[in-house]
Amino acid sequence: MSNMDLDNHFRDLFENTSDLIYFLNIDATIKLVNPAWLTTLGYELDEVTGRSIFDFVHQDYIDSYKAIRRDVIANNEIKDVELALLTRQNKIIVGEGQVGCSYRNAEAVYTRCVFKKITIRGLAEKKVKETEKRLKAFFNSGPDAVIVINEYQEIVEWNPKAEAIFGFTKEEISGKTLAETIIPHQYREAHIKGMRHFLTTGEGAVLNKTIEITALHKSGKEFFISLSISNVLLDDRWLFIAFLSDISERKKTEEALIRKEAELMQAKLLEQKKDEFISIASHEFKTPITTIKAYTQIALAACTNCPEDVLIYLSKMNQTVNKLTFLLNELLDVSKLHLGKLALFRTEINMDEFLPEVLNSIQHISITHKIVLEQNAVSKTTIDVIRLEQVITNLVSNAAKYSPGRDKIIVKSTVVGDEIIISFTDYGIGIPAEKVDKVFDRFYRADESEQFSGFGIGLFVSSEIIKQHGGKIWAESTKEKGSTFYFSLPLMQQLV
Ligand code: ADP
Repeated sequence: MSNMDLDNHFRDLFENTSDLIYFLNIDATIKLVNPAWLTTLGYELDEVTGRSIFDFVHQDYIDSYKAIRRDVIANNEIKDVELALLTRQNKIIVGEGQVGCSYRNAEAVYTRCVFKKITIRGLAEKKVKETEKRLKAFFNSGPDAVIVINEYQEIVEWNPKAEAIFGFTKEEISGKTLAETIIPHQYREAHIKGMRHFLTTGEGAVLNKTIEITALHKSGKEFFISLSISNVLLDDRWLFIAFLSDISERKKTEEALIRKEAELMQAKLLEQKKDEFISIASHEFKTPITTIKAYTQIALAACTNCPEDVLIYLSKMNQTVNKLTFLLNELLDVSKLHLGKLALFRTEINMDEFLPEVLNSIQHISITHKIVLEQNAVSKTTIDVIRLEQVITNLVSNAAKYSPGRDKIIVKSTVVGDEIIISFTDYGIGIPAEKVDKVFDRFYRADESEQFSGFGIGLFVSSEIIKQHGGKIWAESTKEKGSTFYFSLPLMQQLV
């Protein structure tokens, strides 16, 4: 065949094939396209010559097409290309082709492409392939381990996540059964029976629900997984698809929570026992102390002619017994509060009369401190007289106890809005800022007060009493400068 004949044959092929043939300059501008290209895309030759091919390529394909062309030009290879071209009416023509490059003197001159439209069937196949690809991607990189077993319980699919969770590679485990690999010994028999039962009756207790159970790692370590199994009939054979995730971390957190709860319960129980003990002990102490107190007082009364020093000893005994009684009563209050048994018996009082009376009666608490009432608001309120006396006594005793070497305690009562506020100021050791709010906690004592006797319950009891009256209690203090304790009570009515 002469060269002329060959040229004619090629021309015939170029002009009459239904494939789209086009030549591009190296810069991707169109050099030449065949009639099939023009009719398929709806253009005339002079409209497209010199334009970039990317004007006619769907944008989703531009990057991959550019990359293929680059490779083809650089490596003198022929490469398959998948493309979507756009017609003048913006219709998408999907197809596959081959790209090659022509060189002159080792220099790339143009690229050529033969592009075949994909038929409807071809498109359907492509879609199936894409779906398969997506499923494969999900299977390979989804969040769960996916394991597929057949009717003989053999593992037929085992994704990378399953490899990561269980430590077996797909090659190691394919064809083996779950019972001989990842199911812990204690569940193996039940699993085998369950499978048999399903295959004969169609009923499966664990199918289509999520359960939490343990599984075995290749190393033999047992750990918690969440598991859901679905069954599908494929070509008359059952396949079982298991989705699993490692929940050992979550289980650990849950277990830690349960442990913590148990510890809390234990602590509560201990607290209860402690309260019970305090209650019983203080009750038991109360009778003998009352007896000692009674005999001390009888002795004091009978001791008119006793020597001076005996009298001093007896009155010291009396004072100490009083102190002991006070502490015991505080302890009893704590257990009463705990059991919710601290009942109030309220009466109506005028604070401007009540406060001086109480302060007067407790002036003896400290012989060194003078209790000074600086302001005394005229106000009416309803209170449990005994309990409020207890609070005032406690605040005054603390003010005296924690300000050794000082000589006064200032008490003020003021009316603010519909409340009466009573404050107790001392110039003693004070409380560090970070501890001020804690002093109302049960058994709390600031380190600074170690040298002073006490149980750390007076303020707790006082705050409970004030709260039960519908009031508030708080403190302001500066270390080594002194403290002011306040409590407020709702006013019944303000007298003008
Ligand atoms: P106690 O005085 O028996 O320890 P309280 O419940 O009355 O118990 O007081 C709790 C703690 O609050 C005290 O141990 C002390 O640290 C601190 N506190 C109370 N009142 C004062 C005060 N006026 N000045 C300094 N610290 C105080």
